[in-house]
Amino acid sequence: MFTLGIDIGSTTSKAIILKDGQEIVSSSIVIATVGTDGVSRAIDHVLEESGLQKEAISCTVATGYGRQTYEGADFQVSELTCHALGVHHVCPGAGTVIDIGGQDAKVLSLNGQGRMVNFVMNDKCAAGTGRFLDVMANILKLDISQLEVEAAKAENPVNISSTCTVFAESEVISQLAAGTQIPDLVAGICQSVATRVASLAKRVGIKEQVFMSGGVARNAGVRNAMAKELGVEIQYHPMAQLMGALGASIYAFQKK
Ligand code: ADP
Repeated sequence: MFTLGIDIGSTTSKAIILKDGQEIVSSSIVIATVGTDGVSRAIDHVLEESGLQKEAISCTVATGYGRQTYEGADFQVSELTCHALGVHHVCPGAGTVIDIGGQDAKVLSLNGQGRMVNFVMNDKCAAGTGRFLDVMANILKLDISQLEVEAAKAENPVNISSTCTVFAESEVISQLAAGTQIPDLVAGICQSVATRVASLAKRVGIKEQVFMSGGVARNAGVRNAMAKELGVEIQYHPMAQLMGALGASIYAFQKK
């Protein structure tokens, strides 16, 4: 049986086709803001890659910021439920999930069965989200995937003291004008996101293992800074950005 999970995020649409609730047959990440054709492109891609027709899909579940306005799903399920399911599938020992997306950050506490028992969220402030990194990458004329490469070269990471994205933007521009090296700036930027989200995580309580999901988890600079901030090892999976879509496809299997 094939099920489809779609995660309509603020900045990306993700899709996964799952076979029998276990095997990931195909996956797709399309960079497109919510409300565009990003979802249909992600779905077309997974159908094409798997060689399946739409009719072969037994159940479709939508999650994410844009799930309420998407009419093609059998069920709409919260991101929290889906991230918990997806992470438990790839990391059964996870006790805490730190999910940093394009516009918000969430920390979930899981029980031994992978069920969410508590969570905290920041969706009010761009600092501590992917948006902060996107703005900074833009100023530095770097691709978002290059941030981790630059951060790894840092010798004296700077401290970004501004707590607001707009002020931090000015601070980074001043640092550039003063001749600060790009790697030192990028390491400071990654550190800033980690510090903010770590304080959110401490509010919910850290239970090992700690898994990072969402697009920002792909940045090793943020993962390493988070590990230092929390004093724990960070678990990671190359499909970290797809955990919501994976959880949605698992939910679809369970409902069928
Ligand atoms: P949403 O679900 O809110 O759309 P995602 O979980 O897809 O968000 O995360 C999007 C964020 O992930 C972007 O804002 C960006 O900062 C970050 N990101 C995306 N791709 C990469 C990459 N290749 N390397 C590092 N960070 C990335």
